[in-house]
Amino acid sequence: RAKGDGRATYRFYETGMGDAVRDRRMLEHDLRHAVADEQLMLVYQPQEGVQHGSVVGFEALLRWTHPTRGAISPAIFIPIAEETGAILEIGTWVMRTACAEAATWKQPLTIAVNVSAVQIYHDDFVPMVHQILLETGLPPARLELEITETALIRDLNRALTALRRVKALGVRIAMDDFGTGYSSLSNLRAFPFDKIKIDGSFIKSVNSNGQAATIVRAVVGLGRGLGLPVLAEGVETEAELQFLHDEKCDEVQGYLLGRPAPIENFTHVTEGLPLPKSTVVDTKVA
Ligand code: C2E
Ligand code: MG
Ligand code: MG
Ligand code: MG
Repeated sequence: RAKGDGRATYRFYETGMGDAVRDRRMLEHDLRHAVADEQLMLVYQPQEGVQHGSVVGFEALLRWTHPTRGAISPAIFIPIAEETGAILEIGTWVMRTACAEAATWKQPLTIAVNVSAVQIYHDDFVPMVHQILLETGLPPARLELEITETALIRDLNRALTALRRVKALGVRIAMDDFGTGYSSLSNLRAFPFDKIKIDGSFIKSVNSNGQAATIVRAVVGLGRGLGLPVLAEGVETEAELQFLHDEKCDEVQGYLLGRPAPIENFTHVTEGLPLPKSTVVDTKVA
């Protein structure tokens, strides 16, 4: 009888709440092999200047194709990789792959790479970036690290030291997802940022919600006051783009300008080949 109860309890655990736990364990485990088994790839999303309308750089975004479960969103696997420490190996792979790719482009465009807190607090972070720049020959000024404020708050002094060192290499730093998480204006002043990226959630409702518009306007003004260019993420409609143009936001990124895709889709940009006719007209007008 006691044995039976035990089994029942065990079975409940396995089939009930256990599913989520097992699921996570499986992803934790499988992530450790993702780099070696070449299951990761990068897609690239263009970032454009608002006034002139041409591409100034690309953000590298990580994709994981799980051998049995297919595509898994970075929003799901990055936090797991951060918890297990797998992000160190993965983050190095991302840095090397993105820098090597950008170094092959004919056009001297920026490559933006997302970096997580775990990486920044790791002693090897700055030497890793330095080594990859040397290895790939990418000019440091073409590399931009995207960092969220949430990544910085755990230990502000330590984060500041790492960011100063990385900046000393000539690499640029963008504050990602500004306005979400633990946003603090003092971080903008204390840290050596080169760009502010307004989170896409504010852009989404910019034409329908007066508060979102007010916030975006304020962030653009803040950037201007601090001498930092502002990029709006998640731009999906012409109306949003028009608003950002009118507000003199510096750069835009989003499905309207281009979805994240394999770099081969953007060869006309990276190689500076003639653009499709309609785009050429737009560029000349601006
Ligand atoms: P993020 O860095 O803020 O990247 C922007 C996210 O918005 C990307 O999602 C992108 O695909 C998506 N996006 C771009 N344009 C639009 C749009 O017009 N509308 C909407 N609704 N979404 C848009 P993704 O690729 O799923 O990445 C999610 C997050 O995962 C990223 O947010 C970043 O925090 C993290 N991530 C992605 N790649 C890496 C990486 O290599 N390393 C690290 N540490 N984190 C990464
Ligand atoms: Mg980003
Ligand atoms: Mg973002
Ligand atoms: Mg984000």
